[in-house]
Amino acid sequence: MVMISMRDIVKEYPSSKRGAEPIRAVDGVSLDIQKGNVFGVIGYSGAGKSTLVRLINALEPTTSGVIEVDGTDITELPESQLQKVRTEIGMIFQQFNLFNSRNVAGNIAFPMNVANYPKEQRDSRVEELLNFVGLADKARAYPDQLSGGQKQRVGIARALSTSPKILLADEATSALDPQTTSDVLDLLQRVNRELGLTIVVITHEMDVIKRIASHVAVMEKGKVVEQGEVFDIFAHP
Ligand code: ADP
Ligand code: ADP
Repeated sequence: MVMISMRDIVKEYPSSKRGAEPIRAVDGVSLDIQKGNVFGVIGYSGAGKSTLVRLINALEPTTSGVIEVDGTDITELPESQLQKVRTEIGMIFQQFNLFNSRNVAGNIAFPMNVANYPKEQRDSRVEELLNFVGLADKARAYPDQLSGGQKQRVGIARALSTSPKILLADEATSALDPQTTSDVLDLLQRVNRELGLTIVVITHEMDVIKRIASHVAVMEKGKVVEQGEVFDIFAHP
């Protein structure tokens, strides 16, 4: 069963130079990401990985092509219906993007506030997620009191708060040391295996892909130049 299907995706940005050709950040990408997979997207800086993720999350309109998320073509949806699609997609970031003025519980609860969850449901969900990511004793701590690994665990808990089907991780371990990276990847593996989320991992590090992904797409200059099972793609030089 396909969770994310992309057909001939193109994303262009207008050039900053007047009269110049637009910039093709994504140039004809077709991908199928199966339900329950950990799918890696690897490539150098500027390859178009982050742009692809923003298109899946419908944070930006696609220039052309079709993106289906769990069977719904999100390129055709009006903004009002995109809100619902976004609650089914969680996202984590390299720089964590936590709200420094909110404590850990407040950060985790934030997407539920936006989605108007009743307070009781919000509170029990925050508690459940604090336990899941191992931060039950940090509910009242503020982000600047946390280590990088703890911040990313808060980021993961926040991303899970509205019980999404998909987690998008954009260079989520790139700011972390090797041991902390390993801990965060273990947690992502639990998110996949215990909670059943489909995970898309964007990275420039092959070790990250080898560690947790079953399938991978290699991007270069806006195109997917190889895709398949990690074992096959990285087995030969
Ligand atoms: P990656 O995540 O692989 O580093 P990006 O998706 O960030 O790659 O960028 C792909 C290309 O698109 C780059 O050439 C980048 O400069 C360009 N790009 C990305 N976002 C924008 C934007 N908002 N406006 C103009 N160009 C952009
Ligand atoms: P803020 O006011 O910055 O949003 P709060 O401390 O009020 O942060 O917490 C945000 C949400 O998290 C509230 O719904 C609150 O009831 C809930 N919450 C706070 N601490 C806990 C906790 N230890 N366990 C479960 N829920 C909590």
